[in-house]
Amino acid sequence: MLRLKGKKPERRCVGCWSRKDKGELVRLVASDDGGLVVDVEHKLEGRGMYLCPRRECMKKVVRKDRISKALRRRIEGVTPEALETLIYEAHKERFFSLLHFCRKVGCLITGREAVRKELKRGRVSLLILAKDLSDRSKRAFHCPMVPWVEVGRLKEYGEAFSTKPLGVLAVTEAGLARRLFFVAEKLRQIEEG
Ligand SMILES: [Zn+2]
Repeated sequence: MLRLKGKKPERRCVGCWSRKDKGELVRLVASDDGGLVVDVEHKLEGRGMYLCPRRECMKKVVRKDRISKALRRRIEGVTPEALETLIYEAHKERFFSLLHFCRKVGCLITGREAVRKELKRGRVSLLILAKDLSDRSKRAFHCPMVPWVEVGRLKEYGEAFSTKPLGVLAVTEAGLARRLFFVAEKLRQIEEG
């Protein structure tokens, strides 16, 4: 992603205490009922806390009850597994809701033929490949100049956007592509553990 010069805003992970570019961290805020909300795109108001999208940091924040301290609210009953699932599912949900929005505004391309055509025209801002697409197909679609992500499964995209399994999609609008890439990066890191 291109960025204008200037210092990137940094925040500290509450798990490992390292300072990182804010965009590399997951943000959590407290909900009104004492629960946790994943602020997927870092847009919610209120006191928030940041942590790396890594299993180890998730374990640390839960074990040492750093969530309650960081959010200055009593947050109870969170296990590392539950936290990971909460964070993962929130990102996955946002990814698909952004894709639905892309379709609504006409910047989502689905299917191999249509995506190939748009790639040739140089109109693709983000290429999305299902994780269980064959390696051969993945290689066939990778373009050096086009950012790409691997998220979800053939069946998931099929259920969301067509009747058949779907493994190749593209987004043609740069702003939405950036938002999708941001969310997809977190998903990748959580999966890597
Ligand atoms: Zn960390």
